[in-house]
Amino acid sequence: MGEIRDQYSRVIDYLRISVIDRCNLRCVYCMPSAGIEPLDHTAILSYEEITRIARIAAGIGVTRIRLTGGEPLIRKNLVHLISSIAEINGIEDISLTTNGQMLGSMADLLAEAGLGRVNVSLDSLKPDRYREITRGGDLDAALAGITAAEKAGLNPVKINMVPINGLNDDEIEDFARLTLNGPTHVRFIEYMPIGATRFWSEAKYIPTDSIKERVEKIGPLEAVKIRRNGPARYFRFAGAPGVIGFISPLTHHFCSYCNRLRLTSDGKLRPCLFSETEIDLRSALRCGAADSEIERLLRLGVEIKPDRHELSGEKISHSRKPMSKIGG
Ligand code: SAM
Ligand code: SF4
Repeated sequence: MGEIRDQYSRVIDYLRISVIDRCNLRCVYCMPSAGIEPLDHTAILSYEEITRIARIAAGIGVTRIRLTGGEPLIRKNLVHLISSIAEINGIEDISLTTNGQMLGSMADLLAEAGLGRVNVSLDSLKPDRYREITRGGDLDAALAGITAAEKAGLNPVKINMVPINGLNDDEIEDFARLTLNGPTHVRFIEYMPIGATRFWSEAKYIPTDSIKERVEKIGPLEAVKIRRNGPARYFRFAGAPGVIGFISPLTHHFCSYCNRLRLTSDGKLRPCLFSETEIDLRSALRCGAADSEIERLLRLGVEIKPDRHELSGEKISHSRKPMSKIGG
């Protein structure tokens, strides 16, 4: 398989696919309480369409696929999609981002189908607060999901936490301490002005440097090199089995390491999370485009990847499409 680089010499080998825009939770920072207007079922790519795009992408150099949403585990028969993608020549790694609510009962089947790793979003370790943030989620179910994923070999399980001032920032240290007990990866993601933007305010946003300072109250951190770590910078407490990652879309531009394309649930190829530019693969697929035409559109997506996004702590712009539709 070849390698594909964009015009800034970044190797693009990673495709994030949103398999569904719907979700079984309504996290306050991601969705409005009433949820978002769901896409019509016919608007969403079928498994055959997703698999075809993944196969053509593998042909130009994509080796890793992440399934996300919305909540990917609520889409029926996801296991079938995973096994189809696992059969594609050139795909070395399939991962999934989930809220973990349904992971407990599905982890074994997912692993058997060919899923390699899982990221679980978890924003509080307190049951009441977890329910409040997710508007109805069950912390025990998410924790059972994490345990089941570890047992199923979906390692390392990465826990993603979005620290938000006044909501869960007092738990930053508790999350960091999880890495003292086991090989878990805990990653702190800067809150972005995207999604349920009515909830957003600059006062709620915590830059990575402040999050890291809070973590360092527990003890000094040493840098850890992780191969293919994408946008996260990793550290660990001396001797700790787990690692701590920081993902800083706003304060530390990770664009120079950006290795990805995104496919939205309605079949739009999105070269950058923060840009509204999209290429309509669904129309091409449904108009009978040949593989070579789909490949040309994928290559175009790589070609037009911007050098960097323009969001920053000072300059906030609001994405029109919610995270759940783009695929966070
Ligand atoms: N439902 C799955 C989940 O929650 O893991 C997958 C989709 S969700 C949109 C993917 C990730 O996006 C989650 O880790 C969530 O915390 C993150 N996310 C959503 N809105 C965000 C925002 N405004 N800022 C930072 N991260 C956000
Ligand atoms: Fe659903 Fe994930 Fe958004 Fe929470 S962050 S509402 S679980 S899509």
